[in-house]
Amino acid sequence: MEDRKIFLSEKEMPCAWYNVLPDLPEQLPPPLDPKTGKPVEPSVLAAIFPQSLLEQEMSAETWIEIPDEIRRVYSMWRPTPLHRAIDLEKYLKTPARIYFKNESVSPPGSHKPNTAVAQAYYNKKEGVKRLCTETGAGQWGSALAFACNIFGLECVVYMVKVSYQQKPYRRVLMQTWNAKIYPSPSENTNYGRKLLSENPDNPGSLGIAISEAIEDTITSKDTKYSLGSVLNHVLLHQTIVGLETEKQLKLLGEKPDVLVGCVGGGSNFAGLVLPFVKDKIKGKSDVEIIGVEPTACPTMTKGPYRYDYGDTSGLTPLLKMLTLGHDFIPPGIHAGGLRYHGLAPIVSLLVDKKIVKAEAVPQTKAFEAAVIFARTEGFVPAPETSHAIRVVIDEAKKCAQTGEEKCIVFNFSGHGHFDLSAYDAYLDGKLQDYEYPEEKIRESLEKLPKIE
Ligand SMILES: *Cc1c(COP(=O)(O)O)cnc(C)c1O
Repeated sequence: MEDRKIFLSEKEMPCAWYNVLPDLPEQLPPPLDPKTGKPVEPSVLAAIFPQSLLEQEMSAETWIEIPDEIRRVYSMWRPTPLHRAIDLEKYLKTPARIYFKNESVSPPGSHKPNTAVAQAYYNKKEGVKRLCTETGAGQWGSALAFACNIFGLECVVYMVKVSYQQKPYRRVLMQTWNAKIYPSPSENTNYGRKLLSENPDNPGSLGIAISEAIEDTITSKDTKYSLGSVLNHVLLHQTIVGLETEKQLKLLGEKPDVLVGCVGGGSNFAGLVLPFVKDKIKGKSDVEIIGVEPTACPTMTKGPYRYDYGDTSGLTPLLKMLTLGHDFIPPGIHAGGLRYHGLAPIVSLLVDKKIVKAEAVPQTKAFEAAVIFARTEGFVPAPETSHAIRVVIDEAKKCAQTGEEKCIVFNFSGHGHFDLSAYDAYLDGKLQDYEYPEEKIRESLEKLPKIE
């Protein structure tokens, strides 16, 4: 019988994360203070993030040791298996070999706890007692709730009010892990109270929830703020995914020809690909690396590389990134985790330097791929993950035509068990595609801060 998956033992779990910063083809442009246009003062960031994470954010070290306490928690579900998608290959009649790294086996069901656990640990170590964050549909909130509960931190989540009302199951998951959830806008902050007095039925938005989480952080004792994607330290923690994959492929005698991941803020994609990017930057590898986004939020394929705010309300420092403009509000597609106007600065630079390629996929095509995957490989992918699967299937079909025996590897970033209403809409033929909203993006880009 052919092997269907490759496990590593717990002892083979990587002992260090890979920091790509020193290996990048040029220095990453620093975050800027929107008021002065100069690099942000460290003290501004120190008000909301712990010192150890800020050090990681700017570190010049290639390898950063993973503390034993974190490896101990990771071992609840790590190392994760690398699967060969044998039945999908047969269905596609492709000579390509398709592998997927299964990050859906974590307790919250995605790659997100790889950084949530690390962030909770470092905050705890520096005496922080409470972590504040925001969440849309609840994937990040549930990962942070899980991690805070383990380290005995209070977890406060501002959850976009429409999601709080319409998607109760991730809220219940967060509460099961002991988190305090506020539907945002809430009565808990000045900003929330102001919005509610203007309109008690304000449905909320991710931008509003970020503003509330940051206000709560800077006005409360022993409290810090936590972010689930985009920042360098988040991508760093996710590299455990690619480092394990590298070991697993070596055991099989495989070298990837194509690496694929879906891209929202860019953390699961970067986690898989960064350990392979190093050789590509040095010209030692010609692996093709593809990030996949929704056509409704085409940050990588249509956004310019510019300084912009990280959040919708203009509270954060400016980051140089591919962006659709901070007040671009993408249509309400089901892959909530891919609806971000910007992109991790590290991934933005790699796309700009053409080390990484970008493709955009409409959501009905993504769901079509998801259902093929579920009916061949069994696992039901998250709507986000389905975008990567679409491109994997298309690449494998090309191989079926050309006869190329490529090795294709993708990140199975999460399962879709909390997204079955989206599957219901797809199976009922009710899912729509959104045209790339060119006009809205142009309007939004006109409001970019005037910094080159
Ligand atoms: C949040 C999420 C994403 C998108 O976030 P990235 O930072 O781009 O990885 C992708 N897949 C799943 C399952 C998610 O929960």
